[in-house]
Amino acid sequence: MSEDTIFSKIIRREIPADIVYEDDLCLAFRDITPQAPTHILVIPKKPIPKLSQAQVEDKALLGHLMFAVSEVARQEKLDHGYRVVINTGEDGGQTVFHLHLHLLGGRSLGWPPG
Ligand code: 5GP
Repeated sequence: MSEDTIFSKIIRREIPADIVYEDDLCLAFRDITPQAPTHILVIPKKPIPKLSQAQVEDKALLGHLMFAVSEVARQEKLDHGYRVVINTGEDGGQTVFHLHLHLLGGRSLGWPPG
């Protein structure tokens, strides 16, 4: 069972968000605490808590999310590159348990991450 998170509330428009993209399967909105000039979260409307809990039947949805990130990056004109991050679980630094892809860009990003 997945819990209702702040992201479900954003999907239902119960709390505001700066939404930049939406289709039938996913939603993209600006992160409230941006870590780069462009920091957007792409989330499935289906509330999968974390990547490690994705099921075989979610394979097409996961591909859809990845392609949606690339569409948003094009829309945001991140022509010099960008990074896509999925924090998963405690060691991954996940804080909101509704699967989300971070799209980060607009500056040169360091590696390795912390
Ligand atoms: P995580 O740490 O789980 O990978 O990422 C969760 C992200 O959600 C964080 O970057 C955090 O800033 C963002 N976030 C948390 N609450 C809200 C909110 O209410 N609105 C928006 N737009 N972003 C949020």
